[in-house]
Amino acid sequence: MEATIAIAGNPNSGKSSLFNTLTGARQHVGNYPGVTVEKKSGQHTFKECRFNIVDLPGTYSLTAYSLEELVARDFLINAGPSLVIDVVDAANLERNLYLAIQFMEIGIPVCIALNMMDVAEKRGIRVDVRKLSELLGVPVTATVARNGQGKEALMESARDLIRRQPPRPPFIISYGNDVDPVLEALTAKIQAAGLMTASYPPRWTALKFLERDEQVLKQARQADPTLSAEIEKQVDRLSVHLQETLNTYPELVIADYRYGFIKSLLKQGVVSFQGDPDRLFLSDKIDKIVTQRFIGPIIMAAVIYGLYYLTFTVSKTPVEWLEGFFKWLGVLTASHLSEGFLKSLIVSGIIDGVGSVLGFVPLVMFMFFGIALLDDSGYLARMAFMLDRVFRAFGLHGGSLMAFIVSGGIAGGCAVPGVMATRTLKSPRERLATLLTVPFMNCGAKLPVYALLVGAFFSQHEALMMALITVLAWIGALSAAKFLRVTLIKGAGMPFVMELPPYRVPTFKGLFLHTWERTVQYIKKAGTIILSISILLWAMMTFPQMPAAEKETFAQKKAALLAAAPAHVALELENSEEPTGISSEASELKDQIATLDAEQAEEALRHSIAGRIGAALEPISAFAGFDWRTNIALVAGFAAKEVVVSTLGTAYSLGEVDPEESGPLSEKLAETPGWRPLAALSLIVFTMFYAPCFASVVCICRESGSWKWGAFSMMFNTLLAFSLAVFVFQLGSALGF
Ligand code: GDP
Ligand code: MG
Repeated sequence: MEATIAIAGNPNSGKSSLFNTLTGARQHVGNYPGVTVEKKSGQHTFKECRFNIVDLPGTYSLTAYSLEELVARDFLINAGPSLVIDVVDAANLERNLYLAIQFMEIGIPVCIALNMMDVAEKRGIRVDVRKLSELLGVPVTATVARNGQGKEALMESARDLIRRQPPRPPFIISYGNDVDPVLEALTAKIQAAGLMTASYPPRWTALKFLERDEQVLKQARQADPTLSAEIEKQVDRLSVHLQETLNTYPELVIADYRYGFIKSLLKQGVVSFQGDPDRLFLSDKIDKIVTQRFIGPIIMAAVIYGLYYLTFTVSKTPVEWLEGFFKWLGVLTASHLSEGFLKSLIVSGIIDGVGSVLGFVPLVMFMFFGIALLDDSGYLARMAFMLDRVFRAFGLHGGSLMAFIVSGGIAGGCAVPGVMATRTLKSPRERLATLLTVPFMNCGAKLPVYALLVGAFFSQHEALMMALITVLAWIGALSAAKFLRVTLIKGAGMPFVMELPPYRVPTFKGLFLHTWERTVQYIKKAGTIILSISILLWAMMTFPQMPAAEKETFAQKKAALLAAAPAHVALELENSEEPTGISSEASELKDQIATLDAEQAEEALRHSIAGRIGAALEPISAFAGFDWRTNIALVAGFAAKEVVVSTLGTAYSLGEVDPEESGPLSEKLAETPGWRPLAALSLIVFTMFYAPCFASVVCICRESGSWKWGAFSMMFNTLLAFSLAVFVFQLGSALGF
């Protein structure tokens, strides 16, 4: 036996998936004659039958409103397949069956593939397949098209239906007391005159007259102008009558009755919800308070504040332990290695670089624990729900909230898990816009930079400045998102109703697993990347070395200083281990030597690759108020923003700088000519917006599925940051700050 089978259904119900599992590699892709809608056809062999299978475009209805609908309808009527397999999404039965009814009305044999059964089950939706089949009067088979489950049974029922003799009588539903009599009268007229009866069942043609279907009306007017005019007059009379009595139209009545039919059908035990009704009820009660218009946001702010407060206080001690451990490790290693590149690489490059990131692990872990708690309990969904409207205004989605918070929406977070958190967003455009803008948040790595600059230049208004910085980050992120959503990622957002799952008491195992997974990811990703970057940076700031002649000059100067000093002072300095308890003369000599060392370090840095890059950028960066040493720090910050502070420290020849103890560096900056509050502000703005750190860029590439978006975010963000910094600096300068 050979037959043609059309696969039809709503968009995203799984038609193509079913088509693919049925036809495998034997497919042909082309266009429907005359239009550019893709037409896929292929072969499927089931036992002794050979089926030619066609994947129709997805539609919600069979009116003539869209090209897809017309194509699907024309194919069913003109190509005359033996059977339609209607792919129905079991999780959205009501809407999907609307189309099923229309197939049945055309009079083609229909088999329903009740697809997405796995999804429906997960949502607690139980469908009684046998009952549905009985009530509709068509074969229904449960399937999971994605893995081919149920396709044998489906094809078997399709074959049986094609062979069935005599065929089923056409399917008829009632359209109510007003429409039914007219519909019957029209059907009889069409039947008697043989109007297009070769193509359509008469009742269907009559329905199309009532729906004022353009395409059918045109054909009918050509085939039989007088009869058509007569029918149209009758339809007009019904229309006037319906408007006068019910204030409605025939089209609406027809749609209402179709939905009514489906509703009552589903109510007869076809669909049931599994799950605890009490729990749903309690959830509703909690939601009345928690998502209330005024109290809701207050509770939300308190919860967020509590989360951060707990995270920072609880993790403070373990973070200190870890920092202490890495310091100890550095000192220990240093004492066992002789002076030279290897020691410098291991201590300054590897231990300091990687240690600064691993030191954050306890903080990150507690943060993730808190977030897992919010997520698993169901509260996170409520927060997203409340902020949905705000986010939508900027082309994002309520679900974007978590990504922003994880990235540092309140202060202290990380864009790497933030970018990964966008996975929960289902609509691709909102997801892309979110993952490109979360790096603007104030992650934990930017905080030491702000702390340093605010401490040095705005020490009178620290809290205010930090608040301003947070607000600025949000304004920047949301505006950038809006900009992207009207330019590069434009297009309507996916209509997506936020679901509110019932509240749940989280399980310890669930919380532990969620926290653990995310923490391990952080350690692995940040750890490996920071390690390589630290080594690279160390090398860039160390090589090439100063020429030997210059080194010699510094050594001579130092020797001269020592020689000029009285012998006992030099001796005292040499023998004293402790900085305290030396005479003022010795102390002065010590300072002089330190200054000389600093000069040497600066010269050495100028010679290194990093120094040359910094100097080369100076003519441009001067517009934003950055000198060559700042440039090195900013270039280093492409790797990780923490590095900005330690690099500034090195660049300003103070050697190692502990971000927590930024006192000396901030003083040094404040004293350096050219540095003033305006330059600091410009640097803050630049740090906030410029390229995401390397780990985030890698993550953006991976999550967006293309390296192009990673490259884009580096360029776009840096350009944006630089324009803003130049704007701040130039405007400020013009105003005399
Ligand atoms: P179409 O628009 O009707 O052609 O739908 P597709 O075949 O493209 O499927 C839409 C999405 O649903 C794809 O991501 C499929 O992988 C997925 N999908 C299809 N069938 C199933 C199913 O039975 N279960 C699940 N979980 N997903 C499915
Ligand atoms: Mg498809």
